[in-house]
Amino acid sequence: MEKKINSDIIIVGGGLAGMLTAFFLLQHDSSIKLTLIDNGFYSAAWRIAAGIINPVAGKRIVKTANIEQLLSSLHHSNSLLNQYTGKNYFYPMPIVRIFRDDSEQLSWNKKIQREDYLGWLSPYTSTSFPIYTPHGAGIIHCGGRLDIIGFVNDITAWLSMHCTILHDTFFPDTSLFSSNQLIIMCYGWEMMYNPLWSWLPFAPFKGEVLTIEMPRDFSQSPILNNGTYFLPLKNGTARIGATIEHDTLTYTPTEQARQELLTDFTAMTGIIPHVLAHHAGIRPGIEDRYPVIGKHPVHSNTMIVNGLGGRGALYAPYCAHAITDLLLHNAPIPHEYSVERYYHRFLP
Ligand SMILES: Cc1cc2nc3c(=O)[nH]c(=O)nc-3n(C[C@H](O)[C@H](O)[C@H](O)COP(=O)(O)OP(=O)(O)OC[C@H]3O[C@@H](n4cnc5c(N)ncnc54)[C@H](O)[C@@H]3O)c2cc1C
Repeated sequence: MEKKINSDIIIVGGGLAGMLTAFFLLQHDSSIKLTLIDNGFYSAAWRIAAGIINPVAGKRIVKTANIEQLLSSLHHSNSLLNQYTGKNYFYPMPIVRIFRDDSEQLSWNKKIQREDYLGWLSPYTSTSFPIYTPHGAGIIHCGGRLDIIGFVNDITAWLSMHCTILHDTFFPDTSLFSSNQLIIMCYGWEMMYNPLWSWLPFAPFKGEVLTIEMPRDFSQSPILNNGTYFLPLKNGTARIGATIEHDTLTYTPTEQARQELLTDFTAMTGIIPHVLAHHAGIRPGIEDRYPVIGKHPVHSNTMIVNGLGGRGALYAPYCAHAITDLLLHNAPIPHEYSVERYYHRFLP
């Protein structure tokens, strides 16, 4: 990327974070001159992700903090885009949580009795096909799947009529921008190599997913989760994923991950599936697993939306709303999402 850009706002990264931020900004003020730069990387996290949204996750069966606002932002984004395209992107689906051991069942039994989990959890009854639940199972509500590819592609189509989209690679060279330009950096895990932001505790992690052919129609099946997810799709295929690997940040699919996913899937369903595709991607994580949103401590016209981790479908709409509100109305970012919680790490 060599030429100077003549825009009020530049957004770097056209994944969930960047596209939604551009979309909301232009929804609020269509007169903003905005340029979005994206390098079209084939294995970017948003292209690999299954788009599963699980409001009550983890070994200890914990409801995601702030879940009502996160889901409300997601539904709002879905209906906003629907006004232009007539399409739906969020598919509510129950999630059958299959416990891996007795301690998970114990955690579930405690949570299901609590008032604040009412409406989120219910006992498992049965599915239309056999699943194996040696340590028990339960049903999680209000989750589902976001069609991330359709969502991002349709936002891109809308944006291409309202701003400039540059297909190019950004290199951290601030001399390209004039001082009155605002730059919002949303380009995923590789931002850890950007000297402006490298003081943040980035903790990216690799994930691998399989696309499989199902031996019979599972399109009405809920999502299954025993640590590994099974997500049925409409065309007779399904996704299984995703592994978690912190040490090797490559885009190479591995035989070990493939076996791990197939073993977990077969343990849930008894099916040995035919694998159609195997992909790897890297999630943009932050040490405390919360997103980071806001201004650079010194270069206040440089901003960040990052750290969406393994939950970009759930976090991105809320984060994009938050940065838009900060920019247009000076509304503070909630502390647990604000980059300011890490300002103490910055050494000028
Ligand atoms: C295997 C796997 C499974 C997942 N499953 C789920 C799931 O089921 N549910 C869920 O909610 N989340 C899931 N995720 C996580 C989700 O994909 C991420 O949280 C989300 O995509 C992060 O969005 P982002 O826009 O911050 O970053 P990214 O998706 O990484 O997007 C960054 C964008 O910036 C572009 N870019 C990168 N570098 C540059 C550069 N130098 N110049 C210009 N452009 C650049 C890339 O091409 C890309 O388009 C999964 C991720 C993986 C890897």
